[in-house]
Amino acid sequence: MNVAPLIQSHLEKAVQHIADGHQLLAALDIPKQILHKKLLISQKPYEAYRVQHNDWLGPFKGGLRFHPTVDLNEFQTLAYLMTLKCALLGLPFGGAKGGIAVDPKELSEKELEELSRTFVREFFDNLGQDRDIPAPDVNTNPQIMAWMLDEYEKMLGSHAPATFTGKPVALGGSLGREQATGVGGAIVLREYAGKIGKKPQDLTVAVQGFGNVGHYFAQTVSNMGFRIMALSDSKGAIATSQTEGFDIEQILSCKKGKGYLAGCYCVGGVCDIRFGRKIANEELLELPVDIVVPAALENVIHENNANNIKAPIILEMANGPITKEADEMLIKKGVTIIPDILANAGGVTVSYFEWVQGRMGYYWEEQEVLEKLEKKMKEAFGQVWNISHEKNIPLRTASYLLALQRLHMALQLKR
Ligand code: GLU
Repeated sequence: MNVAPLIQSHLEKAVQHIADGHQLLAALDIPKQILHKKLLISQKPYEAYRVQHNDWLGPFKGGLRFHPTVDLNEFQTLAYLMTLKCALLGLPFGGAKGGIAVDPKELSEKELEELSRTFVREFFDNLGQDRDIPAPDVNTNPQIMAWMLDEYEKMLGSHAPATFTGKPVALGGSLGREQATGVGGAIVLREYAGKIGKKPQDLTVAVQGFGNVGHYFAQTVSNMGFRIMALSDSKGAIATSQTEGFDIEQILSCKKGKGYLAGCYCVGGVCDIRFGRKIANEELLELPVDIVVPAALENVIHENNANNIKAPIILEMANGPITKEADEMLIKKGVTIIPDILANAGGVTVSYFEWVQGRMGYYWEEQEVLEKLEKKMKEAFGQVWNISHEKNIPLRTASYLLALQRLHMALQLKR
């Protein structure tokens, strides 16, 4: 299998701590099923994929991404990461990932709906609440899940809301799901700060990405007291020289009004964000803050900028934002990396709660969902922290190790 060298090297470091670990890796190496189909919309063909990596712990689980550059290799790697993420959080799910090679911004809403429904028609036999449960990912959202669920239920001839998560609340989605990934990352960061004896107010943060994940993350850590010194979206970045950091509520309303973040800084008398300045997107990662948070794309920290990173802590809210080479350089420099499979696992954790609620037909209040999320994230962080200290290994290796141990146990019990 062509798992990206990135996760291959992390897996190998972790598996050294498991007896017979190489047999386990060999068993996990090949995905259970790779589905690859061509969808026709307005007479144009689109490549669609679903990689069902592993289901030892439960049905396949993972998002659907609509992006022009996706391919089978990327989905295989991301599906493997979902297997690890679900195992690490102790969720009764395996791992999958899929989507369509398309730029959804080039489609009309009607075409996007047709594409989403066609995906379900083509993959119907392989989906199901006990089989494979998709969710949103890059460029997909609750509306797309609503179309997909509707198509699925029409074909099935009955209701099955737990087949998709990340749905609108009105169709059986869970309260708290929308903010879950960002909030989960904020809980992990707060726990980490506590372990190193710091208060949130002592720590400054730069966040790259202001989409669903970055925006809820920034809002939550800011409410906890962390100081946000820089933010960016795909159109540009802003930084502040005010010691207390940005007022996130002000930034949110500014972005809503202007449509993009780089518009939110002082120009003459017409600024609404005081003491802000526009910076280059790459500069944000290299700012002298305590914590850098890549919350957008993959591979943004690589061998050419890793040595310029000044922050002693990186929290990976995107999947795979640090390349293998950069990871090794940063570890050598003594940078602490809080890995993606832990930091961004809040999304799939609340997807699990959504699945549970959908199956029992009894829906919880938001407070209850968020309390359960907090408990899960704290527990996973605490376990990873302990392994990392007992074995003197980085947090990423400890996270991979804990996930692999749980998969190993399942494999042993099954054979
Ligand atoms: N796409 C999200 C992830 O990468 C959520 C997946 C899910 O909820 O199934 O973790």
